[in-house]
Amino acid sequence: MVRDLPEQRLFAPHGAGLQDQYGRRVDYLRLSVTDRCDLRCSYCRPHDSLAYAEPRNWLTFAEIGRVVGVFARLGVARVRLTGGEPLLRRNLPDLVSMLAALPGVDDLSLSTNATRLARFAPTLKRAGLARINVSLDSLDRECVRKVSGRDSLDAIMDGIMAGKAAGLTPIKLNMVAMRGVNEHEIERMAAFSLENGFILRLIEAMPVGDMGRDAGYLSLDAARAKLVERFALEPCTATLGGGPAVYWQTADGRGQIGFITPISRHFCATCNRVRLSVEGTLYLCLGQEQRCELRPLLRDKASDAELEAAIRAAIELKPQRHDFLAAPEKIMRFMSQTGG
Ligand code: SAM
Repeated sequence: MVRDLPEQRLFAPHGAGLQDQYGRRVDYLRLSVTDRCDLRCSYCRPHDSLAYAEPRNWLTFAEIGRVVGVFARLGVARVRLTGGEPLLRRNLPDLVSMLAALPGVDDLSLSTNATRLARFAPTLKRAGLARINVSLDSLDRECVRKVSGRDSLDAIMDGIMAGKAAGLTPIKLNMVAMRGVNEHEIERMAAFSLENGFILRLIEAMPVGDMGRDAGYLSLDAARAKLVERFALEPCTATLGGGPAVYWQTADGRGQIGFITPISRHFCATCNRVRLSVEGTLYLCLGQEQRCELRPLLRDKASDAELEAAIRAAIELKPQRHDFLAAPEKIMRFMSQTGG
């Protein structure tokens, strides 16, 4: 499957780099391996699953390996597997070992809701997965049921602890903070994360798809002020992850809490990422429509040089910023479709 990967090096040396027209370097790929999910989070996707794409449109592992190899040669060293729920993709550990072995991929991570992680954590670790981000919006069973559409708290907690035991660390817990839904849980989530060595990241709900728009957007300013006071947090001096989160840390530097504020303080000027959907669509921005279809190229036997040229041309289209505030109704696709 990965037989022809080494010769891809002929076309571009590592680090030749992808840079967009605004001077931003793109070195991070979020790779969706499925658009299916076993949860129905209120902010993420609708309750019916009729819109699911046919699997024949999904990129195969060989196709994914080839595209990621090209990205890696273009300086994209960090790859995050996402979805949908990536652990629903059959034989995912095989894909993990394939990607972990690619020259140039230095940081391979996974975003998961952890409902199936207890089963897969040791295998994923052995396959070469470095670390995980887990979505967890509350520690209250009923609140989790309401938000995720299922009584999923026990399975999620088992998954998180199995991830920790397997050494898939650091573990970041992603909590979408929503007005009137789970805002009362923020301090408890922070205390739980600090006690257990997890990094909590609070995220503002984005208006992607109808569900995202109705989620109950909450600016994180007030939450940050409260947490800073209660846990005596200080601005974090170390760089953590290189993503959009702004981190604060405890006085001894051992615990961190991150704030991801796409709405109240957008971070588009430093955006370093693109997203590849399970169908092979390359999205240049979560909040805009610019995209490039890579699947036809892969299936029409395009050469690696042609793939590379298509990716470089696509990066030129990366928009300057999202329009979430000016046009919140604009993005009709759900996060599970784009790859969250
Ligand atoms: N199933 C995996 C998981 O639960 O992490 C990966 C996919 S999920 C779409 C990735 C992340 O997107 C999660 O942390 C989720 O909370 C976040 N997300 C989804 N819709 C969102 C929205 N409308 N606003 C903010 N974050 C959102």
